[in-house]
Amino acid sequence: MIIVMKPNAPVEERDRIISRLQERGYKIDISAGNQRTILGIIGDTSVLNPHDLMVNDWIEKVMRVEEPFKRANRAFHPEDTVVDVGGVKIGGRTIQVMAGPCSVETRDQVVGIAKSVKMAGAHLLRGGAFKPRTSPYSFQGLGAPGLDLLKEAREETGLPVVTELMSTDMLDRFVEDVDMIQVGARNMQNYTLLRELGRTRKPVLLKRGLAATVQEWLMSAEYIMAEGNPNVVLCERGIRTFEDYTRNTLDLSAVLAAKKLSHLPVVVDPSHAAGLWWMVPQLAKAAVAAGADGLLIEVHNDPEKALCDGAQSLKPERFAELMGELKGIARIIGRDL
Ligand code: PEP
Ligand code: MN
Repeated sequence: MIIVMKPNAPVEERDRIISRLQERGYKIDISAGNQRTILGIIGDTSVLNPHDLMVNDWIEKVMRVEEPFKRANRAFHPEDTVVDVGGVKIGGRTIQVMAGPCSVETRDQVVGIAKSVKMAGAHLLRGGAFKPRTSPYSFQGLGAPGLDLLKEAREETGLPVVTELMSTDMLDRFVEDVDMIQVGARNMQNYTLLRELGRTRKPVLLKRGLAATVQEWLMSAEYIMAEGNPNVVLCERGIRTFEDYTRNTLDLSAVLAAKKLSHLPVVVDPSHAAGLWWMVPQLAKAAVAAGADGLLIEVHNDPEKALCDGAQSLKPERFAELMGELKGIARIIGRDL
């Protein structure tokens, strides 16, 4: 339930309302805007009557929030959230592009790709050190040494790094060494991992689960935010459907739904959605046209020899061309890139 205070309501009145509710066992989230304060009531609000709360003259309205997510809800936080990842602001006017290999393989590979995507205008470097592979016999990533190589690539290029965390035992190392922690599609409902990430202030890139509804995806964001970490960026990466021509089905309508329901930034990963490199540029452009706040694109210098996801990786030259094309789309819709 949400209480919207009247413009310029006195702080004493607000605090009086808050302590009454706290006495009844509710937690209150305060969102103070320039003119108006909004109070989010957290707890079992089914027993609260909005009309009873309206006795205070300084309350403009009381709304039931139908959705079970509160901190991620746009009703509670009407302005778009902007998440700062090592100085790169995701969720503002600029569309931010994260690019790099599926997995970190060697120093030359990751530093080389980092330099070429940086030259093409990418804003962040992506690369997996810990890989959640469907088969236990596939390449599982370099592990911790991969993080060292990502750090080297960051030193060489200045690009902030986003990489996937699979288990809480590496959390401290990730907090220390990376700029944004990715939660992979397969871990979207790993609630232990989400809660632990919520206890940090690290920006989190939360990928949508393979078969998750938009509401389930936002509930996962809520797990992180409920622990106190507001720095969540959502990533649509395609969902499982009956179609098997593509690896997954890119659900652009989910971008619109997530942005309507939530204030969190939403980025799109056309690489894992399509699974086919030649579809990636068109899908990336469609995503920007649809209102995505950023893109995640896999780029590899030698896709044929890639240890992971080569078939969906763009070569650096094609990526550079795409960045130019995306600038055009961004301009048309009044955004920068
Ligand atoms: C990845 O980003 O390389 C990855 C494994 O993504 P997803 O979790 O979306 O499959
Ligand atoms: Mn991949």
